[in-house]
Amino acid sequence: MNIALIAHDSKKELMVQFCIAYCGILSKHTLCATGTTGKMVGEATGLRIQRYLSGSQGGGEQIAARISCNEIDILLFFRDPISAKPNEPKDVDLLRLCDVHNIPIATNIATAEALIHALERGDLDWREIVNPS
Ligand code: PGA
Repeated sequence: MNIALIAHDSKKELMVQFCIAYCGILSKHTLCATGTTGKMVGEATGLRIQRYLSGSQGGGEQIAARISCNEIDILLFFRDPISAKPNEPKDVDLLRLCDVHNIPIATNIATAEALIHALERGDLDWREIVNPS
C-alpha cells in the first residue's frame, strides 16, 4: 500500500512517535511525505520515505496530485486544529480529494492507530483490488 504522511509543525513530533511505534507495520508499505515531515520521520526511524517538497513549497499539492491519480491508499495527516494556518484552504482541498477518491484518511493519532491496525489485519486489502499496484 502507498501511505502518505503529512504533519503540521506542532504535530510533527507526534507523527515521529507514531511512526517509531508502528515502524514494523509501516516498513512493509511504501511511504511518501511532505519534506520536513519525511525528513524527521526518516531520521528517527530509518524508514525509506519518498520526500516531496515541504508543505510551504507545494509538497501537499504533490501528494494531492498522487491522490487524484489514485496512487495513495492511506493518508495520515496530523493537523493542528488550534493555530491559524496560512495553508488552510489547501488542507481542506486535500481532505476533499480524499473524499472524492474514497481514500482512508486520519487527521489525528486516534484515527491513525485505528487505521494502522486495520491495515495490519488486512481490512484495507480491498484497496489493492480496486487499485492494483
Ligand atoms: P512539511 O509540510 O512536512 O514540509 O512541514 C507539512 C505542512 O504543510 O505543514
